[in-house]
Amino acid sequence: MKRNKPIYEGKAKLLFEGPEPGTLIQYFKDDATAFNNQKKGTISGKGVLNNRISEYLMLRLEEIGIPTHFIRTLNMREQLIKAVEIIPIEVVVRNVAAGSFAKRFAVEEGIPLPYALVEYFLKSDSLGDPMVSEEHIFAFGWADPSELDEIRYLSLRINDYLSGLFLGVGLQLVDFKLEFGRLYEEGHVSIILADEISPDNCRLWDTKTGDKLDKDRFRRDLGKVEEAYQEVARRLGVLPTADIIEKLNTTKKTTAKKTTKKVSKTK
Ligand code: 5GP
Repeated sequence: MKRNKPIYEGKAKLLFEGPEPGTLIQYFKDDATAFNNQKKGTISGKGVLNNRISEYLMLRLEEIGIPTHFIRTLNMREQLIKAVEIIPIEVVVRNVAAGSFAKRFAVEEGIPLPYALVEYFLKSDSLGDPMVSEEHIFAFGWADPSELDEIRYLSLRINDYLSGLFLGVGLQLVDFKLEFGRLYEEGHVSIILADEISPDNCRLWDTKTGDKLDKDRFRRDLGKVEEAYQEVARRLGVLPTADIIEKLNTTKKTTAKKTTKKVSKTK
């Protein structure tokens, strides 16, 4: 569908004005980036699959009482969402050591953590998303203590629920990143889940083979990137029909070029 200029362009998504006040249209692109934008590429059909996977997961979360920005899917690549004021903190929940955590503490990837760890990173490309403490969050006024309490509580509930959901389809939820926003409604402010939940921002390992079925296949040049996203969608029962997949596969295949050498944060 032809739209006006986006009001925001992110690395994997575009935001357009929505049809009613207080709404936005979130468009899922096939673009992929890693290592703070130093690696760029395209994962053919990713936008379509992430739109479906995120819709499915947000709807399941709504069913257990987690408030989300999701309103409804509009088409293959777009969903209608509630407009929120994004809290500039990336919340990472970890069940197993992997990625930047494994590197930071020099621990082997795959070691289970004694309990789910919650970490906060400032959403800032120019600073390379530095890790921040609660004190930093309060001192800079990115969120207040009651908001952060709510964010942490929701993140851990989401982790418990999604860990079980993914386990049911043979996937281990290793870690994931969430974003939250402030929803202003009738003079009342509440914290709701925003952004997306998809293999772009979750690590998902096959419980039998240990295969990585997430964006690490792109980050680490493991190959079969499109297939991994399709496999997650298939297991969740949201894979598009064969003719749509065919169309996705005949459009351009993953292209990934490194523009400079990797930086330490494995995003
Ligand atoms: P790590 O800190 O190990 O690189 O990432 C932890 C988890 O959060 C991974 O599942 C990763 O996909 C997700 N994550 C962290 N930061 C970002 C980000 O900036 N963008 C995306 N898409 N995912 C992120």
